[in-house]
Amino acid sequence: MATKFYCRNEKCDKYNEEIHFNSVSYVIRDGHLTPKERLVCDHCNQEVEMVNVKNEGGAGFNLARFDSLSNDDKKRWIMERNKKVRKHDAEMKRFYEKKILGTNLD
Ligand SMILES: [Zn+2]
Repeated sequence: MATKFYCRNEKCDKYNEEIHFNSVSYVIRDGHLTPKERLVCDHCNQEVEMVNVKNEGGAGFNLARFDSLSNDDKKRWIMERNKKVRKHDAEMKRFYEKKILGTNLD
């Protein structure tokens, strides 16, 4: 299993492009594997989405802790993560819509 990061900011030139980080260390936060540092797109500075893919032979990611989780915990973690990302996307969309409309209704 390897981990890739994608910019999910629709307004960004790198939308849905893979963002590369030289080294990522992970911590377990609230029982979830989380990058130690907040990982942001180098183009728009928005937090990137972490996507786990089947191992392509690439090494260097510290997924030992994640791999020690049960399959159920992994699934739960990925679902939690996706939920957060969708929520964040929705918030960003609202933010930009408001910006475009020139309104400031909070
Ligand atoms: Zn971006």
